[in-house]
Amino acid sequence: MKKRKKYKSYRGVSPKLKSVCDLKSVVDRFWEKVLKSSGCWEWQASIDNMGYGRFNEQNNSFTAHRASWEFTNGKIAGGLWVLHKCDNRKCVRPDHLFLGTPLENIDDMVRKQRHYRGPHPWKSPLNEEQVLAIRKLREKGEQLKTIGNKFGISEAAVSDIYKRKTWAHVE
Ligand SMILES: [Zn+2]
Repeated sequence: MKKRKKYKSYRGVSPKLKSVCDLKSVVDRFWEKVLKSSGCWEWQASIDNMGYGRFNEQNNSFTAHRASWEFTNGKIAGGLWVLHKCDNRKCVRPDHLFLGTPLENIDDMVRKQRHYRGPHPWKSPLNEEQVLAIRKLREKGEQLKTIGNKFGISEAAVSDIYKRKTWAHVE
């Protein structure tokens, strides 16, 4: 005969919390992951490959700064983005955020000179040190072709780097 199983607690769920008041709302769980300071409030949990914080909750994943905006100001109208005044992608401080269109995001990036002014990194086999080395070699009178062969790029690419048509941000 089977022994009747004794319930440890109501419906077999052992209570982890002593009171319902200890239950945390989504918004509490959100702010627990934020390090507040006098400046930016940086997201302490997962960061996506674009450098933005992610708030993962109940099998959903939200951009942390967008979640912060919505917790503070309510639901965002369709098509609008939450942009950073502070240029810190990890920042979720509500007063560092503003609403804009995707186009405004691009304008904002240009204005802040945040966008990448060299060749696209995924197309470029070079890094900044190599760019500086290329310019030095060219200044010393090295042939475009020789430099190009050394770095695996075309003569035109060497010339553009030397004339600062590309990689102009590297000095
Ligand atoms: Zn900030």
